[in-house]
Amino acid sequence: MSGKKKVITVNLGEGGERTYRIVIEAGLLGRLPRLLGDSHPAGRSVFIITDSNVERLYGRRLLRGFSEANIDATLLSVASGESSKSADTVQALHTHLLKLGIHRDSMILALGGGVVGDVAGFVAATILRGVPYVQVPTTLLAQVDSSVGGKVGINHPLGKNLIGAFHQPAAVFIDPDVLKTLPRAEYRNGLAEVVKIAAALDRKFFRYLQRNARAVAEGNARMLPAIIARSVALKAAIVERDERDRGLRKVLNLGHTVGHALEAATRYATRHGEAVALGMVAESAIAVQLGLLPQRDFENLVRLLRAFKLPVQFPTVKNRSLFLSALAGDKKAEQGGTKYVLLAGIGKVALGVDVPSVFIQQLLAERSFIGRFRH
Ligand code: ADP
Ligand code: ZN
Repeated sequence: MSGKKKVITVNLGEGGERTYRIVIEAGLLGRLPRLLGDSHPAGRSVFIITDSNVERLYGRRLLRGFSEANIDATLLSVASGESSKSADTVQALHTHLLKLGIHRDSMILALGGGVVGDVAGFVAATILRGVPYVQVPTTLLAQVDSSVGGKVGINHPLGKNLIGAFHQPAAVFIDPDVLKTLPRAEYRNGLAEVVKIAAALDRKFFRYLQRNARAVAEGNARMLPAIIARSVALKAAIVERDERDRGLRKVLNLGHTVGHALEAATRYATRHGEAVALGMVAESAIAVQLGLLPQRDFENLVRLLRAFKLPVQFPTVKNRSLFLSALAGDKKAEQGGTKYVLLAGIGKVALGVDVPSVFIQQLLAERSFIGRFRH
């Protein structure tokens, strides 16, 4: 399975006019200038947007590659971290790009994790009413989740991801080799989304992860292309059927209702992947109590998350009102009760489930709420 190139096509729009390719291949980054050069007219300038860490690790090398391929490329770097998902950063990037003479035939290349993908994608969606962009995700989370689907955006002082757009990339290029430099905690963050996708959509993939849990946890390079490709293909199939997140795409929110509330309540001190892992466990414990999810499936989920060194013991939430108002935030959006996406078996989800508030009270009150469901 290793070494081979995998291509997944996302078919969008009437007659597929916004169809794009996701290419997954070890070592792809070195060949990227040639790959891009093949599919885009000569003379088209490329603006690489990256962050300070990724610039150092891969950005400069990529820039040299473009220069060797005689493609006009410029690199712009933002500070690493969530604080760059801001209107200030977007404004600064707009200014630089306009001064550098960006035009509608230019290409923006987002090189980095989810933060870079979201910001660069939003800049691409908004500058000159939209220029094409390609995603070159460099974290596992961005490779399996955020780089696919066209959701781009930034945070607002009133909340995360409140400002944004749907702007599909022209292509996504994934090089699993770049994960070799990714810090372990960032890698685990991405694994939480892999578990989410497998648990929600693909029992066979979940079993594969169980069987290979140790190797996957260690980031075995031979398995990564297949794992990324499977996750991306599953997500792409959902995006094709519900590009604008009006229904089916909500299956990808598994673990995210409680997860987001936990992130908000800890003022984002909890990493996204950890919050999603804890969210999946909490929501699935509720699903067991509601008679939706067999106990054995719940136990397998917990076991896999633990094998991936993700947290499963719900923490004591100090700021309960913040937690509850974050949960209620969804309520407002939905008009009439928070609707949960709950697991109804491995590979099966139930959408729009009402969860009686007593379960949330229990979750906040008893440390043992989840422990009760484990052997
Ligand atoms: P996410 O992808 O989880 O949304 P970020 O975009 O904030 O998160 O990336 C997480 C961190 O990892 C950032 O500090 C970023 O600079 C760094 N990073 C991204 N890709 C790599 C990589 N391939 N190797 C090492 N560090 C990386
Ligand atoms: Zn997520």
